[in-house]
Amino acid sequence: MKGPRDVEPIRAQDDEIERHLRDAQLPSLLVALAHVTGDDSLLQDDLRPEDGFLAAAQGGYDEARCDRARALCLDALRRHRDAGCPTPPPPDDARLRRWLEFLARQVDLDRTLPVLKAELALDGADVRAPAWRKSTVAPERSFRVAIIGAGMSGLVAALRLQQAEIPFVIFEKSDGVGGTWHDNVYPGCRVDVSNHFYSYSFAQRLDWPQLFSPQEVLLDYFRTCADRFDLRRHVRFGTEVTEAVFDEARGVWNLGLRTSDGATERFEAQAIVSAVGQLNRPSWLDIPGREDFRGPAFHSARWRTDVPLEGRRVGVIGTGASACQLIPPVADQADSLVVFQRTAPWLLPTPDYHAPVPEGLRWLFEHVPHYAAWYRFWIFWTTSEGLLGSVEVEDDWPHPERSVGRANDAIREMLTAYLAEACAGDQALFEKMLPDYPPFAKRFVRDDGLLPATYRRDDVTLETTGIERITERGVRLVDGREVELDVLIYGTGFKASDFLVPMTIVGRGGRSLHDVWQGDARAHLGITLPGFPNLFLLYGPNTNIVVNGSIIYFSECEVDYLVDCLRFLLEGGHAAIDCRSEAHDAYNRRIDAANRRRAWGASDVSAWYKNRFGRVSQNWPWGLLAYWDQTRAIDPAEYEVLGSTDGP
Ligand code: NAP
Repeated sequence: MKGPRDVEPIRAQDDEIERHLRDAQLPSLLVALAHVTGDDSLLQDDLRPEDGFLAAAQGGYDEARCDRARALCLDALRRHRDAGCPTPPPPDDARLRRWLEFLARQVDLDRTLPVLKAELALDGADVRAPAWRKSTVAPERSFRVAIIGAGMSGLVAALRLQQAEIPFVIFEKSDGVGGTWHDNVYPGCRVDVSNHFYSYSFAQRLDWPQLFSPQEVLLDYFRTCADRFDLRRHVRFGTEVTEAVFDEARGVWNLGLRTSDGATERFEAQAIVSAVGQLNRPSWLDIPGREDFRGPAFHSARWRTDVPLEGRRVGVIGTGASACQLIPPVADQADSLVVFQRTAPWLLPTPDYHAPVPEGLRWLFEHVPHYAAWYRFWIFWTTSEGLLGSVEVEDDWPHPERSVGRANDAIREMLTAYLAEACAGDQALFEKMLPDYPPFAKRFVRDDGLLPATYRRDDVTLETTGIERITERGVRLVDGREVELDVLIYGTGFKASDFLVPMTIVGRGGRSLHDVWQGDARAHLGITLPGFPNLFLLYGPNTNIVVNGSIIYFSECEVDYLVDCLRFLLEGGHAAIDCRSEAHDAYNRRIDAANRRRAWGASDVSAWYKNRFGRVSQNWPWGLLAYWDQTRAIDPAEYEVLGSTDGP
């Protein structure tokens, strides 16, 4: 895995460079080359890219501007090569501001500059590493953190605690790191957020093989990070946290553990970080007869590699992101495939979804210092408000059944046109696949044409008649037909709104977390909640994003915040901190009001974004900068301080 320090000197001749430039993302390359050559005259006014998600590919450049930008880049690369590829000096803030202004229109420079520095991580600089150490703020204090889960977010927490020299243990119920990328091994599984952004700011990679890499590449990335930062030795694999009880008198959490051999154990920690994810407990159908089916039946997240699909009649229930990824490869293997669709997903056209990183782009990442970092920032910026404008509810919009406003309707038109083209004249398929709810009220599915093409195969059927029950031989539909199957695959999603289930968590006054939540999970900033001192949630309530950004960015922000909470706690000599109800409730009122103004809050289509009360308990309603701003530092006024430590 090549990182930012592995950039190679340029030896290519002009014509080769010229060829590679055909694959360049030009606006971000111009900035990288201004940095490399020290020549800001590359950043010409009329090459400033347009803002926004839809101008993302080449910043809205027409052909003439693309040609001019390429010519400028070629000249700069030649000069860099001929000068012997010197390492550019680090830029000062004034230059960073100039470059930011070039790349991003309507940018609030003061607000964005710190995010830019963190996301760029120039030269692999980890600007988010805590600037303090426990050994200096509370050297004598005995303090240990239990992290639950060694997936993507648990590893970030572990790294930051390690950097702050706070002792910690990670409990991981499975036998490996990687969380969702460890659990989901179904064929076709891949990331659907651009990889250059779906990666840690502190572990950027120059040589992603694909723009949206497959599961095994992601798993390898997280394993490599765990090794590189020496985190594995802190993980207790095969160990599940079954309960955590807060001992108010002593200000400690008492954890109950169960190991994979069934043994139980207790463990004490002063703080808990829950990094258990939202999408890991499979949701099975509430349809009768599931136990009756005689053949193998399994969930997408519990893939049975021991069940051959060749020569079999296979059924897939569900058409969410997981099912839509596994349907094409399953169709390739099975004798026949029936897909049972209840609600059609909107397809988001993504022509390079299965494509390797173009050769020229990869060459540029590997030869132009900091280009990969600027490319990452470019994705950050174009998705930072992302498609948010197009999911906003417009008051008095006359067509609420099809869209939530003018911008949302324009997206609908675009997606509908894409679907019509992808269905290649098959009107019956188009009608089955056309969603009847506003775009982005549910999670979209990326598509490069493969899914509609799979449905057009003679050996594949897209069944939209409802399921009445599962039978011994297959699936009976509500119209009385029975579809006979040899293998049944459930792509039916996860119990996303059952946060922290099945753990028992008991806080102050002996109150159980699940009694407090009653199935309606909430937290302050998605991280802390009243009555549960020193309990920090990662990827907690209302921290999921729909149309912008990467969940890794969110986890990094959450960890920044919890680390600052620990600094406050340790510096102040407090036993614990407990979020005040007023802060928590006011925050949640803002979240609920904002989510009601989003497509996913306004529409009543079924989606895992909502809990059983119909409240959007998963999604973050605003942009990426807003979460950054709110998670920089603890506001002590929002917390009650409990007790003081009486030494080690
Ligand atoms: P999901 O989006 O919740 O989809 C579940 C599917 O099962 C839906 O089509 C649902 O239909 C169907 N279903 C559930 N109960 C049913 C019933 N009783 N009868 C008929 N159909 C039923 O789950 P998912 O596909 O596993 O995806 C969950 C999330 O994981 C995604 O939204 C995404 O955020 C994440 N994910 C990400 C990636 C990635 O590439 N990074 C890949 C996979 C998943 P209805 O729509 O009618 O409810």
